Amino acid sequence: MLRHSCGYNSKIICKKCGTELLYRERAGLYCPACGRRVSVICPGCGKVWD
Ligand SMILES: [Zn+2]
Ligand SMILES: [Zn+2]
Repeated sequence: MLRHSCGYNSKIICKKCGTELLYRERAGLYCPACGRRVSVICPGCGKVWD
């Protein structure tokens, strides 16, 4: 589970491979399987998850 700064909690899945995304400080959201950074809009507040 990831927690956004607005308080929204969610599990976010990589669209490419279906792996759960992780959050790393500075790098932001990334997929541990693809190794790619991913831009996600928070469903809770509608802002970019960074
Ligand atoms: Zn992936
Ligand atoms: Zn949010």
